Amino acid sequence: MSNIMLYAEVTKENYLHTVVFELAYKAQELAKKLDNASVSALLICKTGLAENFKEAFINSGFDFVYIAESNRLTHYSTELYSKIAVDIIREVKPDIILVGATTQGRDLAPRISSSLHTGLTADCIGLDINEKGQLAATRPTFGGKLMATILCKTLPQMATVRPKVFKPAPENIVKDTKFIYIKPEIDNIQKKVEFIEFVKGLNTAINELDSAEIIVAGGKGMKNEAGFELLKNFAQCIGGCVAASRGAVDMGLAPSDIQIGQTGKTVTPKLYIACGISGAIQHIVGMQDSDKIIAINNDEKAPIFDVSDCGFVGDVFEVIPELIRIIKNSNGDAASDINIS
Ligand SMILES: Cc1cc2nc3c(=O)[nH]c(=O)nc-3n(C[C@H](O)[C@H](O)[C@H](O)COP(=O)(O)OP(=O)(O)OC[C@H]3O[C@@H](n4cnc5c(N)ncnc54)[C@H](O)[C@@H]3O)c2cc1C
Repeated sequence: MSNIMLYAEVTKENYLHTVVFELAYKAQELAKKLDNASVSALLICKTGLAENFKEAFINSGFDFVYIAESNRLTHYSTELYSKIAVDIIREVKPDIILVGATTQGRDLAPRISSSLHTGLTADCIGLDINEKGQLAATRPTFGGKLMATILCKTLPQMATVRPKVFKPAPENIVKDTKFIYIKPEIDNIQKKVEFIEFVKGLNTAINELDSAEIIVAGGKGMKNEAGFELLKNFAQCIGGCVAASRGAVDMGLAPSDIQIGQTGKTVTPKLYIACGISGAIQHIVGMQDSDKIIAINNDEKAPIFDVSDCGFVGDVFEVIPELIRIIKNSNGDAASDINIS
């Protein structure tokens, strides 16, 4: 019987990364196409932490969880984590390994695949099982102009998957999960890199986009730096994070890290407000799964309105200041007035 293994990434705040739950639900779907393959998680963490996650694993449909704990694993380390992962994978022999395309996952997955001499499809936005039972991993290629579905000739078949591409299970999938503790053999490994401290990035908005409940995105229609300042004020007023279309990034109005779309980030906030963004398909694919979408555009035929729940046809330089004024006047605490349920 085939089996699918996920890397259960632990964040620096000691939580399971949300991508683990997104991949867990997707893995259930893939497992059904593989005659009910088993789904397992690989957890590498500091001693005692695994206990905190057991209920989450049981409720997320995992058949097995392989746990390697040690006090040397308090912070992510490429050398230690990849050694442990490779040892466990050699023992368990999963057919498919899925890893979140996070900073940590993008570092770890290639180390694992090169040690195991197997293929890795990086930064996928789609996963399926083909008629031969192989993992069919889809990712943008040629700068996003084409979508390529890639098969791996060797086992295990590996893929990293962008966070927020898949949804977590809408309800618990309870399983009789078996927890298997494995003693990591890392005593003799000298780390080449020592963790000193985490330093928060300069642009905290970039770091927060992934988990933002409200995103205010600006496009070329915001026109200039003053336009983006207005956008930032608006975002601040409703407790949102600022993002941008590629059009705005190409104009130098915003950093590429906050670009939404095919060649940027995929986001699924509760509320996405698109300001002066036309709604090109390459932008839409990065935000269409937001719970509610509002568009502000002076062209009533702009395609962004086709994916919006509601829209303002008007000049962003008139509509946004008016919205800020209304929100501020409605109550001192503007953010609490926004009902995003
Ligand atoms: C391979 C490839 C990958 C790409 N990847 C991405 C990606 O990841 N993300 C992305 O966003 N794009 C991406 N693009 C680019 C995409 O095709 C569009 O060119 C881009 O999204 C357009 O950005 P925009 O909507 O800001 O600009 P425009 O298309 O120029 O739209 C500006 C909009 O602002 C409106 N407007 C102008 N002035 C005002 C005003 N005063 N008030 C209100 N509205 C106003 C206009 O009516 C217009 O609808 C990619 C393209 C390619 C070829």
